[in-house]
This record gives sequence, C-alpha cells and structure tokens, in this order.
Amino acid sequence: MSFGKVRPGDHAIVAEGFISRGAWSLIEDKFSDFAKAKLTDVVRFTLDEVLPAAELYEAQISKDPATRWKQVPPVIEELKNKAKAKGLWNLFLSKKHYPKHGTPLTNLEYAVMAEITGRGGHFGSEAFNCSAPDTGNMEVLAKYGNEEQQKKWLMPLLNGEIRSAFAMTERFIASSDATNIRTDIRQEGNEIVINGHKWWISGAGDPRCKLHILMGKSDAQNANQHRQQSIVLIPADTPGIKVVRPMQVFGYDDAPEGHCEVIYENVRVPLANLVKGWGAGFEIIQGRLGPGRIHHCMRSIGAAEAALDRMLTRVTDTRKRTFGKALYEHGTIVADIARSRMQIDQARLLVLSAASMIDKSDAKGAMRDIGMSKVVVPTAALEVIDRAMQAHGAEGISQDTPLAAAYAGLRTLRYADGPDEVHIQQIGKQELRRAEALWERQNRITGESEKKLKAAGIRSHL
Ligand SMILES: Cc1cc2nc3c(=O)[nH]c(=O)nc-3n(C[C@H](O)[C@H](O)[C@H](O)COP(=O)(O)OP(=O)(O)OC[C@H]3O[C@@H](n4cnc5c(N)ncnc54)[C@H](O)[C@@H]3O)c2cc1C
Repeated sequence: MSFGKVRPGDHAIVAEGFISRGAWSLIEDKFSDFAKAKLTDVVRFTLDEVLPAAELYEAQISKDPATRWKQVPPVIEELKNKAKAKGLWNLFLSKKHYPKHGTPLTNLEYAVMAEITGRGGHFGSEAFNCSAPDTGNMEVLAKYGNEEQQKKWLMPLLNGEIRSAFAMTERFIASSDATNIRTDIRQEGNEIVINGHKWWISGAGDPRCKLHILMGKSDAQNANQHRQQSIVLIPADTPGIKVVRPMQVFGYDDAPEGHCEVIYENVRVPLANLVKGWGAGFEIIQGRLGPGRIHHCMRSIGAAEAALDRMLTRVTDTRKRTFGKALYEHGTIVADIARSRMQIDQARLLVLSAASMIDKSDAKGAMRDIGMSKVVVPTAALEVIDRAMQAHGAEGISQDTPLAAAYAGLRTLRYADGPDEVHIQQIGKQELRRAEALWERQNRITGESEKKLKAAGIRSHL
C-alpha cells in the first residue's frame, strides 16, 4: 500500500501522503538533518501512538459531573512520558529566539510538525507538550519572566508537570479591543490585589492547572492607552479565585481543561509576581498572541487534512452507494474533494510563509503573514471539514466521527486570539499604506509612456 508514487529516499511525510511532493520540495532544503529526523519521529509517533489512543482518551474522560473536572485521562500522561523519552518534546520553542530553553528547530520546521500533531486534535499536540494555552504561556515566561519566575513556573511547564491558563477576556466588555480590559490590579504594600471577572479562560478547569497568567488594568489614568495594563502570575489555588463554570462550544465543554468563567475577588499575590514591570501588559500580550495564532493555524491544517482523509475513505466505502453509483463516482463529490485539496495546499503556503518570517525576524516582523493565516486557515479548514461532514451523511455531525468536534474546535478560532474582522481591518490598513508608492510608480510609468507615444507621433488618450 502506498500514497501515490513513493520514490526511494522520500521523507516519511511524503511517503505517508501527509504533504504533497511540491510543498515538500519548497521547504526540504530549509530543514536541518536534525529536523528531518525529528519530523520522521513525529510522523511515526502520531501514527503509531497518538491516533490509536484518541478514542481511549475520549472514553477516559469521566462522564460523572462529580469527577469530570477532577480526573485527567491516564492515557495522555502515558503518551507524554513516551514522547518525552523519545525527545519529541517542546518542539514549539525555537532555540533561535529562546537560546536557554529552546529546541534546535526553526518555526518553519516546527510548522510542519505541528501540522502532523494537529491531526490528533488538541489531544495530539498535548502529547508533545505543544498545546495551547501552555505554549503561549511558556513563551511569556521564557521571554519576560525573571529567573525566579522561570524557576517556579516555566520549568514545571516545560517538564509537562503542570498546566496553566491565560486570563484576558472579560465577561462584560468587548475584549477583542484589549484596551477595554478593566480587571483591577493595584499594589498594596508588598502585595498585588486583583479584582475582575473573566471568561473563556482555557485550561482553568484542569486539575493540573497551577498558574493563571492574568492581564488587568493597573494604571487607568496613563495617557498612553498601551501602558495602562500589567500582567501578574497567580497560583491557581490562591484564595479569591472562583472558577464559576465551564463555557460550552456548541455543547462541547472540552473537559478536563475547559474554557471557564472565572471571578477574581480580592486575590492577593506577592509583588514579585508582576511580569516585566508595571505597564508592560500590552507589550507582553502582543508578544504572546503572535506565535499562539500561528501555532493554531499550523494545527488547523492538520485537522483539515485529517478531515479530507476521512472523507476519502467514506466516499470510497463500497457499502455506501446512491443512485447506482459509489459516492466517489458523483461529480459533485469529486469536485468537493478537489476544492478541499486546493484550499489546504493554499492555506499551508500562507502558514509556511508566516513561520519563515518569524524565523527571519520575529513574531512582530511576521504580523502581516500571521494575521492573513489567522483569517484564511480556520475558514478554509472549516469548509473542508464541512464538506467531509456532508459526505458522511448524518453520521458526519454525530458523535461517531471526530468531525463535529473538529468543526466546533475550528469554529472557535474565528474568535480566539482576536476575531477575523480585527485581523482583516489590520491587513486592509497595511495594504492601503502601499497606495502612496503605487501612485508614484503609476505616475512615473504614465510619464514614460507619454514620452514614447509623443516620440512615435501618437497622441495619448490618458
Ligand atoms: C474556545 C475559546 C477559547 C478561548 N480561550 C481564551 C483564553 O484562554 N483566554 C482569554 O483571555 N480569552 C479566550 N477566549 C476569548 C477570545 O479571545 C475572545 O472571545 C475574542 O478575543 C473576542 O472577544 P469577545 O468575545 O469579547 O468579543 P467582542 O470584543 O465583544 O466582539 C464581538 C464581535 O464584534 C466584531 N468585531 C470586533 N471588533 C471588530 C472590528 N474592529 N471590526 C468589525 N467587527 C468587529 C467581531 O465579529 C467579534 O466577534 C477564547 C474564546 C473561545 C471561543
């Protein structure tokens, strides 16, 4: 059995049909030997260990409300131990940007690995200690945390011993404009006191969650709107933290992690828990959200690929025929497959270009490419999954395939880390900045054109 024409020496990612020969040819030379070997291991580990354990993971999540948020499926911790022993661990943290704690992989190399892990959904990336929100939180601590904060929080996160949450969005204000955030942070002696009402805080329901990284307002009167916010590290068991309820996405609660409503009432932490300094909150979230957004996109490509694979097996199931034909013999199904293939391959190129830009500069320098990916990839992946669900008939939206859950998960990415409209507005504004130079060029070309017409004795009509 092979996926297309496998040639001697093909990398596992091509041989397994995970990426087209064309896309691989664009990036193969940019992969170090170390990264190629790691990628082979990620492919094998995902196929041999992660994907076969996905149903067991779901089955091990307690259905009993009394224990649903208190137990972690044992299989995920077993997988984490195996992945760690094989060195398939913390692949997201590039050594170039994080020399002390990073892995010798570029963002481009990681992008392809993250795509593979994304085939296993959220569970797939957690096995490699590469899942949100911990990845972004580890980057915050690695980049902005002091030595003490790193020792206390970053090391256990890097070791996969604890999990964490990032608390920004607030229940009663429009949080896609982060300057609106109004959770109150103030200093009292050697302590910081926090009062606020957040929601959609991913991971806050997890019994392994030991840290909330919270953004609030510490200096509402500051003339600079982007210096009013600060970030504080709050141990999850601090008195005054009340996890009110897990929010649901189309009925999914994503236990045991959850996306929770959380109230912080007179929560007190030592002054030493302030990250980077007063007023640094906005700068820190900008640094965090860039990589987080592109990681989501990388995994989303994998989710779309997995949906298309599933669609292909469903439409070639010889037991399922309609109107005298197998499903794959109907033209509209073939066209849906083709559209999905083309959308995924287009979306992947955007993700790879964003990852490459992060490598060449940093997340800030790659903002435009990250923003475009953040809009294009979830939308494309949603369309691919939707077609796969349609081809499955009613089964496609049931609990019997992972498609419905994947759709729900992907749909949230049109909000999470900023809604589409905000990115679209920024991309459009950036494009408009080119207009002045375009006018200059156009005028120059028109001038030259008129000279040529005049020399040829022809009257310009412009
Ligand atoms: C599953 C999930 C997990 C999440 N995890 C976290 C987490 O861990 N931590 C956290 O802090 N937050 C988290 N969020 C929250 C998420 O980041 C916010 O929902 C998002 O930033 C939007 O904020 P909002 O919901 O307050 O929407 P609002 O700010 O109220 O915006 C509502 C709508 O207004 C429109 N809009 C906004 N701005 C513009 C504009 N400039 N132009 C045109 N239209 C606009 C958009 O359609 C937007 O969806 C999560 C959300 C989900 C769904």
